[in-house]
Amino acid sequence: MNIKVCDCPRCGENTKVQKRLFSAMALSALITWGDLEETLVDEAICDDCYKELRDVLIENTDELSKMEPLKLTKAG
Ligand SMILES: [Zn+2]
Repeated sequence: MNIKVCDCPRCGENTKVQKRLFSAMALSALITWGDLEETLVDEAICDDCYKELRDVLIENTDELSKMEPLKLTKAG
């Protein structure tokens, strides 16, 4: 886990970014809902983006439990 300062690939803010760990299910959901680009799955993102994505997951827990995991090439 490296923390570095650069442009967050999701929101473009120049800030501290860090690689985040989401479950394959959570990633599938975020991509399906359009909250995360599939190309960013393996990228470091900033705290704000992480909180935003986490909130989305919490708000949609019911949907998440019904989600079929996508076959992500970079997952795992
Ligand atoms: Zn961001």
